Amino acid sequence: MRDRVLARILGPSTSAFTADQIATMGKLRDAAIADPYALDELRHLTNNIGPRISGSPQAQHAVEYVAAEMKALGAEVTLEKTSVPHWIRGTETGALTAWPGMTPGTTQKIVLTALGGSVTTPADGLTAEVVVVNSWADLKALNPATVKGKILLFNKKFDKQLAAQQGGIYAYGDAVQYRAVAPIAGASVGASAVLVRSVGGADYRIPHTGMTMYAPGIEKIPAAAVTAEDADTLADLTHQGPVTMHLTLITQTLPDAPSFNVIADWKGTEHPEQVVVVSGHLDSWDLGTGAIDDGAGVVVSMQAIHLLQKLGIHPRRTVRFIAWMSEEEGSQGAATYMKDHEADVESHIGALESDLGAGHPDGVVWAGKPELGPWLAPVAQALEPIGAHTFRSSPETGEDINGLTEKGVPSFAPSQDGRYYFNYHHTPADTFDKVNPRELSENAAVMTVLAYALADSAEPAPR
Ligand SMILES: [Zn+2]
Repeated sequence: MRDRVLARILGPSTSAFTADQIATMGKLRDAAIADPYALDELRHLTNNIGPRISGSPQAQHAVEYVAAEMKALGAEVTLEKTSVPHWIRGTETGALTAWPGMTPGTTQKIVLTALGGSVTTPADGLTAEVVVVNSWADLKALNPATVKGKILLFNKKFDKQLAAQQGGIYAYGDAVQYRAVAPIAGASVGASAVLVRSVGGADYRIPHTGMTMYAPGIEKIPAAAVTAEDADTLADLTHQGPVTMHLTLITQTLPDAPSFNVIADWKGTEHPEQVVVVSGHLDSWDLGTGAIDDGAGVVVSMQAIHLLQKLGIHPRRTVRFIAWMSEEEGSQGAATYMKDHEADVESHIGALESDLGAGHPDGVVWAGKPELGPWLAPVAQALEPIGAHTFRSSPETGEDINGLTEKGVPSFAPSQDGRYYFNYHHTPADTFDKVNPRELSENAAVMTVLAYALADSAEPAPR
């Protein structure tokens, strides 16, 4: 206990960083808080360019825009070619046509949105009875004959209390499994279409989209998310008696499209071949404008390069900005990067990704050897003035840097306040106004200071 207290006060006995480096961390932190670059870039990505779904003209525009911005800072820019899903949302409507206690001759609207990758319904939609289950156990207990040809709703609740107490990611993980495999599970019991209760905490009857999956050899059936409110209505009415719904989801799945990761190197002075990745994903869903998911992650990473340029800082190793493509639809960009960089994974000294919004970061989550914890102590101290000094280990940090993490590259993510993130992510309400400028700049400070520390230490971070 005494040693732990002393170590907290005095720092580890041998710091990996010099006094000059620690002073530079402070300068970068303060500059990140004061500089509006990240916010201005986010405004442009969201308000001007807009939604950036994989394969879309806006995603391509964003690639070109970010590449040009990085070039303007003097970074060495490469567009890394990849191939991404190209799915397009069309008309989507739901309406009850028969239910207990209905007013004859009326219908009742159901608010929904197609899940990413969903196949289309016939042009004039399909009409079927609705069956509701709350869990996999419920589904198993059902006689498949009672589901055949029907619309199956997975009514798994997003646990708002869990989100409030432990951060949204846990509540999300709990519920998102239903969204991911609903069409496979539904088709295997003969359903004609599936619905899932939206995976998120929002009120105001907002549907949440997100990727869903099909499996080879199992029929592909249409899939949509209904709002939490509509899921409750369906559960109530089906409890009372038979409910029939008309569902129209017009979607197109085009051949995979060429696209790009944007890579921008701020070259190292001593070991330019050694790289520290600082990243976010450039693609977004199409309902909102991708501000918190994940425009924020892209712009706080851009800010790292911008501040190194502005303050004239040239670390020993290369700081590599990456705007990943198609995280939302399967991380195809990240897979391409891992393939292209198979031979030089060893030269990756660290990898950062921000992809949990722009809420206040209370510190950093890191994946790596236990020795990494004490090694990071001076970095945590440099972030203490903005309340971002709690560093925790975690098996995973970011979806796009998972491949690097698995190969033993130390990886990192800002540990954001995720209590409200899932109220907006993947919804029409993921827009620029949801980002608090101060909190965005705190995230930029975390990314910038950490990237600098990893890139400039005399010895690479332990791995
Ligand atoms: Zn994301």
